[in-house]
Amino acid sequence: MIITILSYLHMSKCLNDKIFSIIMDISGEENMPAFVIGGFVRDCILGRVTHDIDIVVQGSGIEFARKFARRLGENIPVSVFRNFGTAMVKYQEKEIEFVGARKESYRKDSRKPVVEDGSLEDDQKRRDFTINAMAISLNKENYGELVDPFNGREDIKNKVLQTPLEPAQTFSDDPLRMMRAIRFASELEFTIESETLMGIKKSAFRINIVSKERISDEFNRILQTAKPSVGLKLLDETGLMPLIFPEFNELKGVHEENGQRHKDNFYHTLQVVDNITRVSDDLWLRWAAMLHDIAKPVTKRYDNELGWTFHGHDFIGSKMVPRIFRTLKLPLNEKMKYVQKMVLLHLRPIALSPEGVSDSAIRRLVFDAGEDLEDLMLLCEADITSKNEKTVRRHLMNFQIVREKIDLLEEKDSIRNFQPPISGEEIMEIFGIPPSRPVGIIKNTIKEAILDGIIKNDYKEAYVLMIQKAKELGHEPVKKQDASEISEGDA
Ligand code: ATP
Ligand code: MG
Repeated sequence: MIITILSYLHMSKCLNDKIFSIIMDISGEENMPAFVIGGFVRDCILGRVTHDIDIVVQGSGIEFARKFARRLGENIPVSVFRNFGTAMVKYQEKEIEFVGARKESYRKDSRKPVVEDGSLEDDQKRRDFTINAMAISLNKENYGELVDPFNGREDIKNKVLQTPLEPAQTFSDDPLRMMRAIRFASELEFTIESETLMGIKKSAFRINIVSKERISDEFNRILQTAKPSVGLKLLDETGLMPLIFPEFNELKGVHEENGQRHKDNFYHTLQVVDNITRVSDDLWLRWAAMLHDIAKPVTKRYDNELGWTFHGHDFIGSKMVPRIFRTLKLPLNEKMKYVQKMVLLHLRPIALSPEGVSDSAIRRLVFDAGEDLEDLMLLCEADITSKNEKTVRRHLMNFQIVREKIDLLEEKDSIRNFQPPISGEEIMEIFGIPPSRPVGIIKNTIKEAILDGIIKNDYKEAYVLMIQKAKELGHEPVKKQDASEISEGDA
């Protein structure tokens, strides 16, 4: 049996908030020992601010929460989750969750444990990592004392993640813990202790009992760390990657033909993700970086003259995005469309750097990327992963040239948030025709002419072209109007 070690260390610096003294009072009056436990304690030692506060009490957590809320005295509601035996109180920006100390045992087919009442020590044993198993006493006799049976404090000092009990069992019981281990390693820049790492490798196959949503939550949290490649490499090393995201795993490996090797797209992508992370906080831009080359494995060909090619990987990759989002249970909304667009367009900017590229090609990119143009440029710059500094500088300079061309053109035209100067409704009204193919043809002719620079992005010029095109299609305006009298909004 593990003896609870009371490290005589006072953690009072983290207990300044009045909620802790209220809990101490209730605990004394009701004779219900109480402790703050888990992430809050870890973050307190790490000097990180947390608003999630988990309180473990000896007895009913729900009852304790009700007394606590009443003591705060401001008609504060208690959310009770009877199935879990927990209750939550929101106070200011804090979420304080109360639970009775519990003991857990697991069945093979579920990560939901069988729960019974237990001691604080039982409760600490069921925690995932030693650094998450520490508690601070909120009882009068030893208020502020750290209860650290697994020496989590030492592990924080050494920046190590390990499970309190046997690792393979811990991970097999609740395989989500494997994702959490890797997320914490990436987030806190901790290493996973070797036995614990081995435990993940042994239990990786158990990940299939975890819901896709929970896996994606942790995956997204890995992507949101300062250096996502740390977590992504661990997912690879432990064998989890092929199980949770097989398409990404396919990026691995280098082939050789006629002495020519292509780059390893897995490590290239990791570097692109790290690069984009340095310039943007946006999770979906990080997903775009993750997926920009996702179709390289399926488009890879060796050509005797050209060498390795990945023709169409931009287009095919963008087509793969919805299926990937669906299987990973990521949102199927405008975020997904944004990622698709980034993948589709990621080769376009570089094609615009050579001298003599037409304004029309630039206008088309500005139109296609719309308000996401800046993100696209960031992605393209992040996509430069050559080890040769000269090459990097040359590519960056080429993108600078593209940026300047875009700026110049944007001063003249306003294409970025392009709205066709004449709407479909107006066309129908002017020619007295119902929704039909000619309306689409006329609208498209105007758009193409503007993008090609044949006419300006302007109502009058569009009106003249519209009349001309409609005539070709056999339509006359129902009400004649002289184009020279037309101003925006008229029709
Ligand atoms: P974060 O809030 O940054 O996600 P956390 O460690 O606080 O990290 P929570 O989900 O808030 O994570 O959980 C609070 C505490 O509950 C953890 O510190 C840990 O002690 C325990 N815990 C959470 N999930 C698990 C799990 N799957 N297995 C064992 N213990 C867990
Ligand atoms: Mg937490």
